[in-house]
Amino acid sequence: MKSINPATGELLRDWPEHDETEVLRRLELAEQTFHSWSRTSYEERARLLKGVARVLREDLTGWAKQMTEEMGKTLAAAEAETEKCAWVCDHYAEAAARYLAPEPVKTDASESFVRFDPLGPILAVMPWNFPFWQVFRFAAPALMAGNVGLLKHASNVPGCAVAIEEVFRRAGLPEGCFTTLLIGAKAVDRVLESPVVRAVTLTGSDPAGRAIGAKAGSLLKKTVLELGGSDPFIVLYDADPREAARIAARARCINNGQSCIAAKRFIVEEAIADRFEEHFTAEMAGFKVGDPMDRTTDVGPLAREDLLQDLHAQVQRSLSEGAKLRTGGRRLDRRGYFYAPTVLDHVRPGMTVFDDETFGPVAAVVRARDAEDALRLANQSKFGLGASLWTANAERAKDLAGRLETGSVFVNGMVKSDPRLPFGGIKTSGYGRELSHFGIREFVNVKTVWIR
Ligand code: NAP
Repeated sequence: MKSINPATGELLRDWPEHDETEVLRRLELAEQTFHSWSRTSYEERARLLKGVARVLREDLTGWAKQMTEEMGKTLAAAEAETEKCAWVCDHYAEAAARYLAPEPVKTDASESFVRFDPLGPILAVMPWNFPFWQVFRFAAPALMAGNVGLLKHASNVPGCAVAIEEVFRRAGLPEGCFTTLLIGAKAVDRVLESPVVRAVTLTGSDPAGRAIGAKAGSLLKKTVLELGGSDPFIVLYDADPREAARIAARARCINNGQSCIAAKRFIVEEAIADRFEEHFTAEMAGFKVGDPMDRTTDVGPLAREDLLQDLHAQVQRSLSEGAKLRTGGRRLDRRGYFYAPTVLDHVRPGMTVFDDETFGPVAAVVRARDAEDALRLANQSKFGLGASLWTANAERAKDLAGRLETGSVFVNGMVKSDPRLPFGGIKTSGYGRELSHFGIREFVNVKTVWIR
């Protein structure tokens, strides 16, 4: 495995993959640790998880640099990500006992109740785009529920994978509570087949979701799948076009445009479309693209050369399908994997940037006749992750929110994740939920106890 700095294209470090013997050793350790960890109290788990939050906060910039060097997000974004990881640890340390409190139920028994018991070692197959956050938002609830975690991280962020294991070690968690497996995608099936692994969560693309879902299904192991998205950002005629455009540009370019919940299709009512498009293009063209370590940079490089080439091919195809280029549409003439923030206007269903996920700073502006047409266009997608809706009419917003086919709707704000709110999608964006009490209940045995 290789760590390559996407801002320069330079090889930072080569990492030897774990061979089968080492993978087996780590699985056995996870299983042994589960037997003792699952019997610790919530208080003890919470004490240790609070320690994890402390370790993250003590060296916020150090952990952040690891992410920036390996996948190119800006240092400021990486620091914010580290802080958010500490937050999710604090949140579950404080809330897990409440989220998983036994629930009494009145029946013909003298006492009956439901309890939530841990399952065992859970495998997490994770993407590179939020290399810390994706892992901690899985690990914090899983560990607080009494499970132990096994991480198979994306092959381009092995340094982050090892660093995260180090965070748990420094916080004093027992060895085997959180274990990194340095393996490629091809080795995942063997790990899933191990009886040690009780369930799997994958965050990644829909092809990866289909592969893991099918394999886990054949083994009858539970899955949570957090997959791609092509989130609509709907602007109705009564929204402020300047403010909507300002947030729209940020919602598209967050994490250098590589976020599952980044806004990707900007569906705007015709009456306001020209004004929105003008402000939006100015905002996108105004972003400073460059060195992600520089604190004045807005947009850093894409994570890998092949991802940049795929994105550029999507733009080219959409132009040949009839989209109109307003800004960008090209790779920057410098070393590293930099792509100019791009706006394509007059995009319609059937065009590549409408139908497929774009993972980079490329925005598709779609013009809608009215609010109903905007809703129809928003739902005309195989994905269903998040949606952002801009209007001054709260009643209309609530009505449309009920009819949007997505896992979340944010009105007059950009879509974001929050430990207190459930997160996940429908349709090709996957199934299951992370975060909140819904997330911690995904990997537990919901057990009925009936006593006469
Ligand atoms: P990816 O190529 O699907 O990889 C994700 C992870 O799955 C990596 O660890 C990868 O390993 C592994 N993987 C890929 N194919 C596999 C297979 N057939 N069997 C087992 N493991 C497999 O996705 P990515 O490029 O890293 O991440 C970008 C995608 O993730 C986007 O589609 C994005 O929208 C989505 N995402 C979704 C969410 C969400 O919460 N819904 C959040 C973030 C990102 P290797 O690296 O070794 O190939």
